[in-house]
Amino acid sequence: MKAAVYKCPKNIKVEDIAKPQPSAKEKLVQFKAGSICGTDLHYYRGEWNIKIGQVIGHNACGITSDTGERVAMYPITYCGSCYYCLRGSPHLCEKVKVMGMDCDGFFAEFAAVPTENLIPIPANVSDEEAAILEPVGLAIHTLNFLEPKLSDWITILGQGPIGLLMTQVAKLKGSRVIAIDLQDYRLKLSEKYGADVCVNAREEDPVKRVKEITRIGSDMVIEAAGVKQTVEQTPFLVRGAGKVALVGASSGYLALGNVAEALFFCTCSSPFDYPMALDLLSKKLVDVKGLITHKFKLVDFEQAIQTADNIAEKPIKVVVTT
Ligand SMILES: [Zn+2]
Ligand SMILES: [Zn+2]
Repeated sequence: MKAAVYKCPKNIKVEDIAKPQPSAKEKLVQFKAGSICGTDLHYYRGEWNIKIGQVIGHNACGITSDTGERVAMYPITYCGSCYYCLRGSPHLCEKVKVMGMDCDGFFAEFAAVPTENLIPIPANVSDEEAAILEPVGLAIHTLNFLEPKLSDWITILGQGPIGLLMTQVAKLKGSRVIAIDLQDYRLKLSEKYGADVCVNAREEDPVKRVKEITRIGSDMVIEAAGVKQTVEQTPFLVRGAGKVALVGASSGYLALGNVAEALFFCTCSSPFDYPMALDLLSKKLVDVKGLITHKFKLVDFEQAIQTADNIAEKPIKVVVTT
């Protein structure tokens, strides 16, 4: 079967590899659609390590080979019996593995996936939409963690796919959103999805602007850009006793010198968020179609990831299909 295999930085090749053999606890799933995530780009650029020869991809859907059911694939495998699994946090499992990161993933014609990781897709959600569940799940998880009150100000740094979905879910929660990015083509979408204020950080100082709008600082801040400069801004954006969700990479970036009292936390999505994400898509409460800027076939995966990595192409979500 054809699969997108990691060779070395800047080199992911579509190759013929052996079809996986599912165990008794797994099902064989035929790939229908997947999307390229920021994590895939970190591997592609050589910024994060991944095993040579591994199939990448952790955001996809397909059809089960036995019953032909359309399913979304949750990529995190867990043991079901450790401290975290028994307390409802399988995404923190002591034996956690992420398909497409720690073992073979989904950008292949077939994947063997644990049966409990397969989530049925409602008929009115397309394959392409179901290929973009991870950032929707992450936005649900983060906003449920933040628990904003009606009209709370939420400042969202970064309006890539994750930030744009944070904007949408924050609006569903009744928040007021200040969306910050460096690219006007992304901020146009923030506006479409209901952001109350859009700030291009190339043109305006986001800290100054947020203070002008909120006077005392933002009730909540979501860092979804994952770069040192934006992580460093978070303590200057949040009000006293506010909350900051660090969703992007933040390791080693944060200095809390000026904070008297605030809650800073990291977050990732759990399997419980995926059915909720599908429900929001099915009810048209969240839109992912508008995030799709490019589509490629699985056999053209190299071109797909080059496009996702090229800001001149103005990518938001690059989707790969059969
Ligand atoms: Zn991802
Ligand atoms: Zn476990």
